[in-house]
Amino acid sequence: MGKEQKAEIMGCQVDLLSLNQALEEIKKLLGNQKTFAHIITVNAEIIYEANKNPRLKEIINGAHMVTPDGIGVVWAARQFGYTSSGRVTGIELLEEVCSEGARRGWRVFFFGAAPGVAEKAASNLENKYPGLQVAGTINGYFAPEETADIVTTIKKSNPDILFVGLGAPRQEYWINEYKDQLQVVCVGVGGSFDVIAGLKKRAPAFMIKLNLEWLYRLISEPSRIKRQLALPKFVLHVLKEKYRRH
Ligand code: UDP
Repeated sequence: MGKEQKAEIMGCQVDLLSLNQALEEIKKLLGNQKTFAHIITVNAEIIYEANKNPRLKEIINGAHMVTPDGIGVVWAARQFGYTSSGRVTGIELLEEVCSEGARRGWRVFFFGAAPGVAEKAASNLENKYPGLQVAGTINGYFAPEETADIVTTIKKSNPDILFVGLGAPRQEYWINEYKDQLQVVCVGVGGSFDVIAGLKKRAPAFMIKLNLEWLYRLISEPSRIKRQLALPKFVLHVLKEKYRRH
């Protein structure tokens, strides 16, 4: 990715673009010969983890496009003086790609989530976006020795876009590990299949508008507390860095 503004947040390069710009970039990628590309939608927790884990940081900085999924990332970019157009979440990017893909004949593959969930998400998306071509679905609970078959199945189905919903950063490691075998645009989408299949609810619109989606997730899934403890640490780190830069 080039032209759009990039923000460096705790050593991670994040592309500050709108949902529309992200879709345009995907259109360009799919206009070329089939090629591998890794698209990551990052939140504060992942950036904080990457700060301690050089391998993850390398994967993020080697990705084709890194969008600000969480409000923490948008906030951090603004602290450093960038004008961010806001969040580009995995689920919104997925919906947008399916909507555009239904018109353009893109083949989409859904890999991840509990058995049956990706299928249900795919059929909901087929109903919502008539003409959508689902290349296949595979659930995200597999033994390591099944991975070779999974990669073969994905390749044989000839998808243009592969959505991987294994949770972040597991999905980023998986995509990176098989990048030489996958000539496909890969997008890590976390728990999006659960929401699209109707298993989980996204925060109500007013909470998303008030930038409180993280709070909704914490209340509805208290077990996320450990992960979300990274948030205040991320905020402190960014503020320290801001004053250091000044
Ligand atoms: N998951 C999976 N395989 C695993 C562990 C998790 O497919 O071995 C799926 C899980 O079923 C869920 C998603 O990964 O659909 C993780 O969702 P979460 O909301 O925790 O991810 P995040 O959006 O925070 O990355």
